Amino acid sequence: MGSAEPRIEILIVGAGLAGLFCALECKRRGFAPIVLESRDVVQSVGDFITIGPTAIRAFKNWPTLYDAFHKAAYDTNVYYHKQNGEVAAGPRKVNESFGWNIIRPDLHKMLMDTVLAKGIELSDGEILYADLVIAADGIRSKSWTVVTGEEPKTYSSGSAIFRCAYPTSHAMTIPSLRENWDISTHGETMHFFLGSVSHGIMLIGKEKICWGWMHRDDETTSTESWSAKLSSETALQQLDGDGEWSPEYRAVVDATPPNSIVHWKLVWRDLHKDWVSPKGRVVQIGDAAHAFLPTSVNGGTQAFEDAVSLPCCLRMAIDQKGLDGIPTATRVHNTLRLDRVSFIQQLGFKRRHAYYNLDWEAVKKDPSIVASEPAKWQYEHDPDKYATDRFEECRNCLETGKAFKNTNVPEHYTFEPWTVKDMEAGTK
Ligand SMILES: Cc1cc2nc3c(=O)[nH]c(=O)nc-3n(C[C@H](O)[C@H](O)[C@H](O)COP(=O)(O)OP(=O)(O)OC[C@H]3O[C@@H](n4cnc5c(N)ncnc54)[C@H](O)[C@@H]3O)c2cc1C
Repeated sequence: MGSAEPRIEILIVGAGLAGLFCALECKRRGFAPIVLESRDVVQSVGDFITIGPTAIRAFKNWPTLYDAFHKAAYDTNVYYHKQNGEVAAGPRKVNESFGWNIIRPDLHKMLMDTVLAKGIELSDGEILYADLVIAADGIRSKSWTVVTGEEPKTYSSGSAIFRCAYPTSHAMTIPSLRENWDISTHGETMHFFLGSVSHGIMLIGKEKICWGWMHRDDETTSTESWSAKLSSETALQQLDGDGEWSPEYRAVVDATPPNSIVHWKLVWRDLHKDWVSPKGRVVQIGDAAHAFLPTSVNGGTQAFEDAVSLPCCLRMAIDQKGLDGIPTATRVHNTLRLDRVSFIQQLGFKRRHAYYNLDWEAVKKDPSIVASEPAKWQYEHDPDKYATDRFEECRNCLETGKAFKNTNVPEHYTFEPWTVKDMEAGTK
């Protein structure tokens, strides 16, 4: 930053994962953002979230955060089971490419602590003015009217998920769970129970056990909300409606303490291409720009990648043109990120389809079929280096109308817009 640079007012709306990390990265690039949040500052709701290696690499610039993350992250062996509990594949260590599971409220608190320690300002209500507004306010972002005028089309997927976390010590009172999956014998473990129309996940960590069940939705109780309202009796009743389940998984659902289960409606959204307002001064990041299906395992990771890429573009554009560089920065960021995000969103649809159409004999011979681990192009990406290396070329292409080719995607991939209908029809 040049010593004569005027203060550039950056407002980040939303202190979720994207907003908080973007605040840190803005700070690292010499800006002094203000973060606005509408809820309680520390979010205690939520279960686990998977954070991929591309995001964790970026944590290295924040050593306290990096260390805290690694201390709290689960070190899991993964097992794939038939619905009734029979093990078909595992244990597999997947951290290298998939990333690490961590309890989201723990991660959120770590980020918040780092933001506060760096003296980044948090605000909640007064009217503020800014040179740039970064909308990091999640899937129902208020930024739509200024960005594209309309929200991406949403569709009921017919599916929903029960999600939950509670103390492992409580779950370990279940004799068969203690006998079969005790941590001192097996380490921390993650289990997928794959049926033909629904699937369960159970993650057994030292402190918390998480379980989830993706199923056909009855449409009456599920919502896109992280408040936990569903009773374990209702959850178990619905689970049992889908046939015989692993006795341990079923017992873990049964033992859930009251007010712990979120009933998340799985809403599908068409691809949303333009994350930047016409004048380039409002930009969406994280879920506000792109919602992922849980089977993409990428909502958190892509939010962090955005949070790294945007401040990097801002620094370069502002160094070149001062405040007038802001629209260039936001548009370059959008171009550098769109193809990659779009492709990974599509992978979520494909993996969901694959889960319910498994050939178990083939899986036993080749467990990678069910693991569907990320490819090298996905996990080796470095959003900081990518933005640094490609900014200039991308800026030039946007200014001259030349085509720009992203290289943070599979080698022969060519971007094509898609809709949920295309994905369901298998045409993309
Ligand atoms: C409470 C909560 C619990 C979650 N739990 C899980 C989980 O267990 N597992 C999982 O995989 N994913 C979970 N998610 C979603 C996950 O964090 C996101 O999908 C992903 O990390 C992308 O992050 P994001 O920052 O873009 O969005 P989010 O993490 O959703 O953050 C958006 C933030 O913006 C705030 N906000 C919204 N509107 C406004 C406004 N008008 N003004 C100011 N602030 C606003 C929200 O309160 C929130 O803090 C949770 C999200 C939330 C909000």
